[in-house]
Amino acid sequence: MNTEQPKKELSAIKGTKDILPQEARLWQIAEAAAKEIFELYGYRELRAPVIEPTELFEKGTGASSDIVTKEMYTFTDKGGRSVTLRPEYTPSVVRAIIEHRLDLQPQPLRFYYIGPMFRYDKPQKGRYRQFHQIDIEVFGEKDPAVDAEIVEMAHRLLRQLGVENVTTMVNSVGCKKCRPAYGAELRKAAAAVKDRLCPDCQRKAELNPLRIFDCKIETCREVASNFPKITDFLCAECQEHFQEFLGYLDFYGIPYRVDPTLVRGLDYYTKTAFEIVAEHLGAQNAICGGGRYDDMVREFGGPDLCGIGFAMGLERLLSVAKIEPPKKSFVYFAYLGEEAKKQSIATARYLRSEGIECLVEFKDRGMKAHFSRANKIGADWVLIIGEDELAKGKFQLKDMIDSKQYEGTAEELAKIILLKDKKGIKSREE
Ligand code: AMP
Repeated sequence: MNTEQPKKELSAIKGTKDILPQEARLWQIAEAAAKEIFELYGYRELRAPVIEPTELFEKGTGASSDIVTKEMYTFTDKGGRSVTLRPEYTPSVVRAIIEHRLDLQPQPLRFYYIGPMFRYDKPQKGRYRQFHQIDIEVFGEKDPAVDAEIVEMAHRLLRQLGVENVTTMVNSVGCKKCRPAYGAELRKAAAAVKDRLCPDCQRKAELNPLRIFDCKIETCREVASNFPKITDFLCAECQEHFQEFLGYLDFYGIPYRVDPTLVRGLDYYTKTAFEIVAEHLGAQNAICGGGRYDDMVREFGGPDLCGIGFAMGLERLLSVAKIEPPKKSFVYFAYLGEEAKKQSIATARYLRSEGIECLVEFKDRGMKAHFSRANKIGADWVLIIGEDELAKGKFQLKDMIDSKQYEGTAEELAKIILLKDKKGIKSREE
């Protein structure tokens, strides 16, 4: 017999983790809430592949972004193509729109998706290499009312999942018309303090100074806080869009903070950028981030279709959510002998068709062992089938919470279980 411990390399890859059943229950609830809410706003699910051609992200996410320069899971497949495990979802949706000519459908187009993303960053609390995002995108709606609507939708989801104490940070990052003048000023300002910046930001100072705002190093953040503010450089159109966006947030009663250093880590944003941060999450405190990307579809060779969206991190969301999973009752079958086993299988089949969860275990147990097993796994009901019950065609049902016992046919017992469950499992627990 091999008694060796399993080798260490048989563990999940660093920065990835298993979601075990108890935790998965919470994920299911959060995902179901997201889907339900998004559908209420007219969003429909669009599922894209996990792997995409590398150039999709180089072009979409941006060649100078941290994600593309440092964090992509890129490899060459057997056909010699460079493929990447998606680090974010927006470029995939844009590709799908162009590939399937979804732009020919009536607009605006509203999509959502929930799934894994991959970034090769240093893992820490709240930052993983495989993480999960709830993502929504709207295409073909220029009105700033939609910018506020998606923020309100994110808040609705957070509220439903019991997330409290969040702050919404908003900014406008301008557009192709106003950003170049700002970029020039920023480049000048960055060049003047270059020796105080980290080597990475020194490189960014020339390449794309806006990205200096992404740096997590305290001295760089301090230096960047004195840089010129984008909000002082917005063109009339961007200024008007921003003011209207803020007006709609006021209309919804959503408190926000304007943060002119909020540029988000991706290159494609235009006009609106926002982030929802949670207290008590430490360094990785952003639960949700989003913004407008009015040029992206066109830059991919598609039609002139503006876009806006957000991504919410499920791991971070769940770490601050207060979810009480509803207790589901289930029936354990205590049977004696082969005939009773078959009767249990048939009865469980019927009860399941009535929507009742059943557990039939195929282990030869005496009645005492059955009950101790039922107790151990927290069964709410035990359905007893022995010789007497077989002969009568009526079974015993024991309520494990209040110890009451009932006798009846499968149909009669199903009614008892359903009625009691309907009255609320909570009162059963009291
Ligand atoms: P981003 O696409 O970087 O704007 O991220 C959107 C949201 O995804 C963030 O606000 C986080 O909640 C989540 N997120 C991003 N990167 C990670 C990561 N490496 N691990 C866990 N969650 C992440």
